[in-house]
This record gives sequence, structure tokens and C-alpha cells, in this order.
Amino acid sequence: MKIHHIGIAVESLKTAVPVFEKLLGRTAGSEEVVEDQRVRIATFAVGESRIELLEATSTDSPIARFVARRGQGLHHLTLTVPNLKTALEKLKRDGVRLIDRDPRLGAGKELIAFIHPSSTAGVLIELVEER
Ligand code: ZN
Repeated sequence: MKIHHIGIAVESLKTAVPVFEKLLGRTAGSEEVVEDQRVRIATFAVGESRIELLEATSTDSPIARFVARRGQGLHHLTLTVPNLKTALEKLKRDGVRLIDRDPRLGAGKELIAFIHPSSTAGVLIELVEER
């Protein structure tokens, strides 16, 4: 298992991107909109992982609700698994509360699923199937 990416909820990519560009000493990759999640993403490669800055594209976006409730900050951590379906079945058997009981398509057509933060120390964890 490895950390695939870390998602950080921001109020504005316009404000946040230049700060992370200075911090990481590189420019962000091209921005991507995920319509399904109503989010615009700026990505920075960091070793084998990446940092994703997440900006809401609409007021009913999960990111807009997160920022309104808790402010900007760490939104989720994404771990790679070899087989997502198998991983979800194991977690279900172990009594872990899942948001997605079955894999679904995320950004870049990757298979993803979210675990409920009530089962994971308050941290929203996303699993992505290794390619
Ligand atoms: Zn993510």
C-alpha cells in the first residue's frame, strides 16, 4: 500500500496554487474539473504521491460544504490497493463503515471508494485501485 494522493480543500485555487508552487518549487499540473464531485483540482507531484488542491465549482459541492463547516484544510487521504472490490469486501466483513460499498469511477476514470470517517479516526479515506 502507498499514499496515492492527499486532497486539501481550498476556498480558491487562484490563492492557494501560488503558495504551493512556492512551497514545492514547481508549477501545478493542468487543472481538472470532476463534474460528478463538482470540484476543480490542481495537482502537484510529490515523489510517488501527489497533493491535490480541491476547489468547489458549485455551492452544493461536497468541498463547498466541507469548507463552510470546517474551513480550509486536509479533506482526504487516498491509499492504493491492488484490488478494490476485494479490499471493500474485507472492510465490510471487518465492520468498517463505508461510504461507497462498491467501486465507482473517480477522476481519470480510476476505480475509487470512500471509507466513512467515523471508522477511521475522523479522516476521510479514499481507496484507489492500482493500475
Ligand atoms: Zn482524491
